[in-house]
Amino acid sequence: MRTVAADMDDAMLRAWLTEEDPRQLERLYAAADAVRSATVGPEVHLRGLIEISNTCNRACSYCGISVHNTNVKRYRMGREEILDCARRAQELGYGTVVMQAGEDPQLTRELIAGIVRTIKQETGLAVTLSLGERSRADLIAWKEAGADRYLLRFESSNPRLYARIHPAHGHPAIDPGDEVPRLGMLRQLQELGYQAGTGVMVGIPGQTWDDLVADLRTFQRLDIEMIGIGPYIPHPATPLAHDFDGAAEYGDQVPNTVLVALKMVALARLLVPDANIPATTAVATLNKDTGREDALKAGANVVMPNLTPPAYRALYEIYPDKACVNETAEQCHSCLAARIESVGRCIGAGPGAAPKTHRRTA
Ligand code: SAM
Repeated sequence: MRTVAADMDDAMLRAWLTEEDPRQLERLYAAADAVRSATVGPEVHLRGLIEISNTCNRACSYCGISVHNTNVKRYRMGREEILDCARRAQELGYGTVVMQAGEDPQLTRELIAGIVRTIKQETGLAVTLSLGERSRADLIAWKEAGADRYLLRFESSNPRLYARIHPAHGHPAIDPGDEVPRLGMLRQLQELGYQAGTGVMVGIPGQTWDDLVADLRTFQRLDIEMIGIGPYIPHPATPLAHDFDGAAEYGDQVPNTVLVALKMVALARLLVPDANIPATTAVATLNKDTGREDALKAGANVVMPNLTPPAYRALYEIYPDKACVNETAEQCHSCLAARIESVGRCIGAGPGAAPKTHRRTA
C-alpha cells in the first residue's frame, strides 16, 4: 500500500497528486487531518480580509484586476473606511486583519504605515499585508509600524511558467534556469521578521504534475508560515483565459479543479506540518456547497471571512463568481462559523500565529 508520510519522495508525491480513487484519497486526507490535529489543533483561525484597492499597475496574465481588465471600475478605500473594517474585525472576534490589494502605487509607504500603526494601537490585532511586490524600504517601514505578516504567493516555482504569467516589471526578465523572483522576496520578508505566507494556483495553463511537486518542495525549503492553495479560475478579461492551451503544448496539464487543490492542501500539511493553511476562497468558489469544509478536513486550519464593504466587494473580481461576494461582513461571518462547527472544529482566539513562529522566536 502506498505510504502517506512526511518523508515521501518526489515519485510518491506525484503518485498522490494523480490519484483519483476516492478510498485512497480518504487515506491521504485522514493522514493530513491527523497531522493538522497534532500540530495546530482543532482551532480554525479567522483572518478578516479587507480588499483595500483593486487598482493595479501589473499585467499578471491570470488576474482579473490586472491592467488587462479595462472594464472593471477601479476603487481605493479611504483610511477611515479601512479603519472601520478593522474595528469590525475586532467586534466580530477576529485575531487578524489582512489588507490586500492590487499593486497600487497610491498605497504609499506613509499611508500604509499610518494605517498599520493606528490598527495596532486601537485594536491590537495582528496585521497581515498582501500588497504585492513592494520595495525593501516599504517592507521595513511597515514592519516598523507594527505589521506582523505578509502574504505573497509565488504562484508557480517553475521559472518558465512564472515568466509567462508575470511579465517582467522593474526587474530583468528571468531565464529558465533562474529562481522565480518572488522566492527572493519571501526570504527577504522572513529576514525582516515578518511571518511570511505564500502559495500557488493549481491548474495554470502549462502547469505540469512535476511543477506541483516542485511547488511542494519549495514550501518545505522556505519553511514558510502560511501556505495558500487554490485552483486557477479563468477570468474572461485576461489573456491567460484565451491565448494558451497548456495541454496542447505540454500534454501533462494539471486540471484546475478542487480535487487537485485538496490533494495539494493535504500534501502541504504532511510536508510542512506546523504551517497555517487556509481553506481558500478559490476552492469555495468552485465548490460553494462543501469546498471550505472539504479543505478543513484535508489539512486546512484557517479561513478568511471577507470584511470588504459591499460597495467594493464585487469590484475585487480577481476571478468570476467569487464566493461570498454578495454577503455582508456579518453574513460571511455566520456562514463560516457554521461551516467550521459542522466539521467538529472551533474558532480560534487570538492572532493564531503558526506554531513554527513560536519555535523561531523562542
Ligand atoms: N497584488 C497582490 C499579489 O499579487 O500578491 C495581492 C492581490 S492578488 C489579486 C491575490 C492572489 O489572487 C494572487 O496571489 C493569486 O494567487 C490569486 N488570483 C488572482 N487571479 C486569480 C485567478 N484567475 N484564479 C485564481 N486565483 C487568482
